[in-house]
Amino acid sequence: MGSDGHQKDHAAELSALASLKKIADANYDYEHSKYVIFGVPFDYTSSYRRGSSRGPTEVRRAYDNLESYDVSYEVDFSELPICDIGDIYVNEDASETVDLVEQVTSIIVRDGKIPVMIGGEHSITGGSIRNFRNSSMMIIDAHSDFRDSYMGNKHNHACVTHRALDVLGEDRIFSFGTRSTSREEFEDPDYSKVKFIRAETVKEKGIGRCLEDIIPKLEDSLYFSIDMDGIDPSQAPGVGTPEPYGLMDKDVRFLIRKLAKRINGFDVLEFTPDFDNGNTAMLAAKLIQDYIGSRETKKAF
Ligand code: MN
Ligand code: MN
Repeated sequence: MGSDGHQKDHAAELSALASLKKIADANYDYEHSKYVIFGVPFDYTSSYRRGSSRGPTEVRRAYDNLESYDVSYEVDFSELPICDIGDIYVNEDASETVDLVEQVTSIIVRDGKIPVMIGGEHSITGGSIRNFRNSSMMIIDAHSDFRDSYMGNKHNHACVTHRALDVLGEDRIFSFGTRSTSREEFEDPDYSKVKFIRAETVKEKGIGRCLEDIIPKLEDSLYFSIDMDGIDPSQAPGVGTPEPYGLMDKDVRFLIRKLAKRINGFDVLEFTPDFDNGNTAMLAAKLIQDYIGSRETKKAF
């Protein structure tokens, strides 16, 4: 962790990059925090249903309705060292936005803190993952996101797993909930370098066995990225690219609970409020609590 003096400078630097919005329970300033929440209101490469740019605001609004105390974890989030630096200022350029996300997460990680990013579309994870080069990556997603380029853009949200592979290399990425893969992606010679655990495999074997199979392959440090469309549309309808036959919310919570102590970067993305019935917003907010609660609890899961 950097000295307080440096972190004061960094707090000023970050405040110049982000707006003033705050999730309930974010009662710490940057210097004294451990979890640093920020929003990335970016959805310019989304191909089907736009609107995830309003995700951060609507997740914060939903979070207002959650209790600060969680009886499962026996933690009070309002007492935990959580800060929210607001939404970072983005433009319509995906490459620049990805670089900005890299810059913001770099400051947070270098200060020994944990970035918790609310999207926005999945392309932005391509920036944060650059600060986790020695980590394994866990992804929740209906889609492989494994195109090398899409609509002429290497930073399209359909390419983020390929961008992560560029950074982490083979056998380091584990994507749960896959059920949409183009032929082009499936036949990519690099496809087998990522472990895709399909939603129907999770249904057949159970999430516990699926996790057991990969545990020996994981690094000590993990980055955990949730594309909300990995979860079944019945439970998470508010997404840009819904896909039937998904994971259950409790499958995702299971993975978070089992792995939280090793998760040093976290994001919740692709929530698209225009198509929500309210449930996706609440689930996205709750997943943030599940992550922080599982990491901070003294109880065993
Ligand atoms: Mn995705
Ligand atoms: Mn997806």
